[in-house]
Parts: sequence; C-alpha cells; structure tokens
Amino acid sequence: MKAQSERPLRVLVADDHPTNRAVIEIILDLVSAAAVSVENGQQALMAFKTEEFDVVLMDLQMPVMDGLTAIREIRKHEIATDRRRTPVLAVTANALSEHVAASKEAGADRHIAKPVTPELLLAAISAELERARAVVDEVRAKVRKTGS
Ligand SMILES: [Mg+2]
Repeated sequence: MKAQSERPLRVLVADDHPTNRAVIEIILDLVSAAAVSVENGQQALMAFKTEEFDVVLMDLQMPVMDGLTAIREIRKHEIATDRRRTPVLAVTANALSEHVAASKEAGADRHIAKPVTPELLLAAISAELERARAVVDEVRAKVRKTGS
C-alpha cells in the first residue's frame, strides 16, 4: 500500500497491548507500510506532532492518555498548525453504537472492531486514504477553477 508520492505508507499505531501492536504491525508489513508504534495516547500525540503520518490507528482504552482524548488533541493540533486532516481510525473492542458515536464525536473517521483481521484493517485504511485523496482532488479542482 503506497502513499500518494510512492513512498511507503506511514502509519501511527497506538495500543497499550504489545500483542495488538504486533498483530497490526504484521498486517501493515504485508503491504510494506511503515509503522511507528506507541503505547498510549500521550506518546501518540507526541509522535503525531513530530512526524507526518498517512493514517493513525488508535486504540481507545490506554493508560496515561486514552484514545478519545488523543484523537481530540490530534484534531486540535491539526487546526492550530493548519495541518491537513489525517485519517484517524479508532481500533477498539468497544463496538457498541455509543462507542462508535463517541469516537466519531472525538474526531475519528472510522471505527474498527477488534479482533483486527488483515482484510478488515487494510480495507478500512484503503477506504480512508481514498476518501482523503478525493477531498484533496476536490480542493485542487476548486483552486484551479478560481485560479483561472
Ligand atoms: Mg487498550
């Protein structure tokens, strides 16, 4: 799976459970994506502020800073720094509709239920990347229109 510029896709993976991180890393490796893994929301936020990612995979239940807080902080940071909106996928065992609503409200683009399978995860990432690209294309088209 490639980012827009043919460099490897860069994915931030936040999960406090080592096995969950390992599973996601193995799946990402199947498509030669580069994963940066962290153990809690605070580390995720720090990584997000210092590096560029194509996609963020965020567990919700984590110590130090939970995933919903980290997603809200990421969205605040994007607005404060005028950075493009990065697709954020909440990855969680909490699959009830109120949990889905809470992660959307926090700023997640999509909700993936655990256990994560390669098919589900890669399909979700690719759908979000396509959506993000469509938005970029739309903005470009508008800029071209107003520019000419
Ligand atoms: Mg967790």
